Parts: sequence; structure tokens; C-alpha cells
Amino acid sequence: MNITEMTALELGAKIKSGEIKAPDAARAVLDEIKKKDPYYSGGINAYIITLENEAIKRAEEVQAMIDAGELEDSPLAGVPIAIKDNICTKGMKTTCASKILGDFKPPYNATVIEKLNAAGAVIIGKLNMDEFAMGSTGETSFYGETKNPWNHERVTGGSSSGAAAAVAACEAPCALGSDTGGSIRQPASFCGVTGMKPTYGAVSRYGLIAYASSLDQIGPVAKDAADCAAILDIICGKDEMDGTSLDVEHKSYLDSLSGDVSGLKIGIPRQCFGDGLNADVKAAVLGVAETLKSKGAETEEFDMPLIDYAVPTYYIIAAAEASSNLSRFDGVKYGFRADGFEDLTDLYMKTRSEGFGEEVKRRIMLGTFALSTGYYDAYYKKALQVKALIKKVFDEAYEKYDIILFPAAPTTAPKMGESLSDPLKMYLSDIYTVSVNLAGLPGISVPCGFDKDGMPIGAQLVGAPLGDSVILNAAFAYQQLTDHHKKPAEKFGKEAE
Ligand code: GLN
Repeated sequence: MNITEMTALELGAKIKSGEIKAPDAARAVLDEIKKKDPYYSGGINAYIITLENEAIKRAEEVQAMIDAGELEDSPLAGVPIAIKDNICTKGMKTTCASKILGDFKPPYNATVIEKLNAAGAVIIGKLNMDEFAMGSTGETSFYGETKNPWNHERVTGGSSSGAAAAVAACEAPCALGSDTGGSIRQPASFCGVTGMKPTYGAVSRYGLIAYASSLDQIGPVAKDAADCAAILDIICGKDEMDGTSLDVEHKSYLDSLSGDVSGLKIGIPRQCFGDGLNADVKAAVLGVAETLKSKGAETEEFDMPLIDYAVPTYYIIAAAEASSNLSRFDGVKYGFRADGFEDLTDLYMKTRSEGFGEEVKRRIMLGTFALSTGYYDAYYKKALQVKALIKKVFDEAYEKYDIILFPAAPTTAPKMGESLSDPLKMYLSDIYTVSVNLAGLPGISVPCGFDKDGMPIGAQLVGAPLGDSVILNAAFAYQQLTDHHKKPAEKFGKEAE
């Protein structure tokens, strides 16, 4: 098998056994990126920056450590990994796919990067995304849209567009994304890869450039659930630098994968399978329940009220927090500064007008409005109240079920350009993902089939708070019985022709 087609764990095992050398793995991935990614020759554009020399040098160092008998307990030592470009990497440009960050090079690493380094992973590049993680299609990047490897005319989903596309196109064995309202799970679903948002607080946010701090969470994007478990094992844990990170004892996520789902109670919320859901998506997602049932899981339909309120609630809270978080980009401290300003106010205005894209400005204005005196109670406070109610609905469901199953998105990947003209339509397409962030729950999207045009479909398994290993195990069990996650996008596309 070609190096770039292996899962991260397969590659890690071969590096450990000496069959493949870490620098060769890095070179193979970099070659694939050169072949498939360049934007100006019509490539996928999953990467904003590739770290050619740094990655090879680092792979050589890791190989020397492996040869010296170090990193024995690390299943991903020497494995290349790509990082969404809103995660700070010391001394390496970090852009959030925005003009406003210019050539900003963070003076520190995010905690997840420190942890990946300690585990011997090799960072291969920084991934494209919607600007400041705001978007559901990957089209709002200052660095150009990312193309869906299954069909270049379709979007990848967003905002972790590069993460999902890079893994789907075998331009990275695995990646880190971030998920505020679906940004890992929805692009994973559109690109036919596996993506997980851990429980809020399971992974440190230190060094993740904030969008909506109470919802943001870093998580893995990979070919399968076992890879996601291996990555989560590395990046999770309490961090003094993030007061919201959780201190919980748990077994290794990877070691907990038994594939045993007998007696697992799966709830299927009726409200998530009604109007507006594409028929192919509905059939494929319900098929997941049937497959898990054949292994002894039990399924039941139930009512999940309030789900219709999730999108408006999310967009008020996310925009409000974003308007505050993004106030630090003022032309003084970071990256880009506009020319020709007259005074300080003019500097702020010119820099922010020129530096932010349309969608980011829309969110800042919406958020500022929702937080302003007179409207705070009517919008922001109300949204927080509904958020609490949504959490309660989930809490009640988890008294009966171990997992809740619904789609990651109502459709497969739309055509490029369709959503940009109608932002409200784009927001509504987040219906299945945002409630999971509002309730702080873990969710994973697993490939579960294809629509009539051959585009991938993702099913979402959502767990109780800290039920990360429960959803990983259910996803793992499902992937042992199916092969939707094994079809590399472009190869499959060619075979299908
Ligand atoms: N599409 C959602 C938004 O634009 C989610 C983004 C995210 O999870 N970062 O807010």
C-alpha cells in the first residue's frame, strides 16, 4: 500500500517496525501535496502553508529518537499531521485564513502542538479554513476556497475545510481542526472522512485563536475512528493555561476501542429526520442504526424538542463572543496594518475594514448589536437561557440513551458559490451540529454512504458529557463492519468513471 493511503496508526506501526522511515513518510506526503494542492493550477488548496524543510528536518530528529529506543509508547511517532491555521505554531506563520493576521508568527505553541511534538508527530503544514473559522463551506478564506476532493465543483464544508480535504485527498494521514458549531464534523461528512469534536474542555484551547470561546474545541480529523482515538489520547487533558480544560481520569481512548456495542442504547430523535433532510442522507444515517443493531445495539426513536431553536441561539452567542474576541485585531498588535490613517480611530477603522472579509464583518456587527445596551436582554441573555434549555433536553435524553444518532448535515456538499449568496441558508445548514456545541457534548461524524451523485454522507454519533470513548467505540464498531471510510476520494472518483 502507498504510504499516503495508510491510516495514521498503520503508518505509525510501520515506522515503529522500521519498515518505513519517518523522513520518507514526510517526503511522500509532501510530494502528494505538491501534486494535488496548488491553487493556481486548479488544485485542492487544502494548505495555506506547507513546512517542507522543517518537516523533513523534524522527521529526521524523530527518526533518530526512535532509533535510540525513545517514543516507544507513542503510536503516532514519525507520522505527519497537518494543523488548521487557527492553531498557534511558534515561529511559523498562523493566519486564521484572514488578511488581518498578515505575516503573524506566534511567539508560542498551542498546548496541542506541544503535546503532538512530545509524542513525536511531524507537523507538515497549516491548513486552509473559513476566515476565523466562520463559515460552513470553506469559501470565506482569504487564501481562496478549498475544493472537495470527491468533486472539485463542490465545497468541502467548513470551517475546517483544509483538514477534511487534506485527509480525503491523502495529502495528510491526519489533521487537527477546530469545531465551534460543526466545523470538524460537517466538513468530515462532506469529504468522507472521520472527524470528532471532543467534550468541551477535554482538549486545551490554549493557543487556539478564539472565535467563540464557550463553544470552541480542537479535535481530530482522520480516516477512521481509531486514528481519532489515538490523536485524542495525545492532545487531551487538563492544562493550566486553559481554565476551562477538564481534569478527568480516563483510560486511553485507543485502548478502550473494543468494537463491542451489545446493549448500547441509541436514541434517534424524530425531529432530526423530518423536512429539509435529503432522502439519501436520511437513508444512509438510519442505515447506521441498523448496522449497529446487527451487533447488539438497541435503537429507539424519541422526541427532542427545541432543536429548531439551536441555529438562532448559536448564531447570537457565537457572534457575540466573536465580536469581543476579534476586537484585539486592531492594526496595532498583529500582522496587517492599513496605510494612510490619520489618527488612532482611523487606524482601527481602516485596518479592520481592509483586513476582515465580509462574513467576519457580518458576525462582528451582529454580535456587537446583540451585546449592546437595550438589546442584550432581548438577544444575548435570551440565547443563554435557550442554551441552558437545550442542554437540559440532551441531559434528559442521556438518562435513557448512551448515544444519540442523527446526520452531520442535512445534505451532501453543495456546489461552490451557492451558499455565499445566501448567508442565512448557510447558517440553517448547521442545524445538526450547533446544538452539540451549545450543550458541550462530544460528537463524531463517520462516513456512512454516498448520495446519487457519489458524494459522501456522514452520520453523527453524539455522546453524553465525557462520553468520548463511547462514541469513538461505536464509530469503531461501525467501521469494522463497513468500508465507506476506506474509499480514497480521487481513486474512488476515477474507478467510478
Ligand atoms: N458554520 C458555523 C459558523 O460559521 C460553525 C463554524 C465552526 O464550527 N467554527 O459559525
